[in-house]
Amino acid sequence: MPILLVTNDDGVHAAGLAALAHALEDLGEVHVLAPEREQSACGHALTLHRPLRVEPVRERWSAVNGTPSDCVNLGVLGFLPERPVLIASGINHGTNLGDDVTYSGTVSAAMEGLLLGVPSIAVSLVPGGDFDEAGRAARLVAARVLVEGLPPKTLLNVNVPADPKGIRMTRLGHRVYSGKIVEQIDPRGRTHYWIGGGEPAWELLEGSDMKAVNEGFVSVTPVHLDLTSQRALGEMRDWSAALSAQLRPIRSAARRAGERRR
Ligand code: MN
Repeated sequence: MPILLVTNDDGVHAAGLAALAHALEDLGEVHVLAPEREQSACGHALTLHRPLRVEPVRERWSAVNGTPSDCVNLGVLGFLPERPVLIASGINHGTNLGDDVTYSGTVSAAMEGLLLGVPSIAVSLVPGGDFDEAGRAARLVAARVLVEGLPPKTLLNVNVPADPKGIRMTRLGHRVYSGKIVEQIDPRGRTHYWIGGGEPAWELLEGSDMKAVNEGFVSVTPVHLDLTSQRALGEMRDWSAALSAQLRPIRSAARRAGERRR
């Protein structure tokens, strides 16, 4: 039986994790390695400066005192009896759309899987949706990934609204950042701040993930990790020569200063 690795960022006891593991049961031997506590918005963090411990929760389920990416790293690089054929992360309690994927622990787990060469999907539930329904959508996508494979260096980011009308292939949307920081005074008279408290707003772009879930469709976005802006690279070719010309006098001045010190 091929091994599937399931993880999340809401922690090993989250309902969405159980729903995803259950939904994928007939596709392979499901192993769960998930953070022992919630890690939402931890991004792609890895734990490199303290040891990781894996505590068994029940058969083929374990809790890790680390991040979702730690769980994937452990799972793929030797903790599991063999290399998984698929990594599924979620089902996140809440959406992971557009620009938010860069903060998301759920999506980052799939990024880690992708970097380690394992086909990976991230699954998130739009508030008001149902975990069993999202699990069924995840199973459809996972089964197709297992049969068809994925294009190179690509993961799938899946968001499932309530009672989905269908499935749309989408692109990442963009947030409108309008929120403010919230400044408060603590009981000892010191100032502290909250970020990320504002109402989220979105550009309703045609073909975007946000638009799809707004209209009641499951959104499936192929995501790759090459953040290079090819267009900007083309437009900025002449920066090399211009900046190099400016760098030359700075370097020779620094060399002359170095010689004087010697
Ligand atoms: Mn989460």
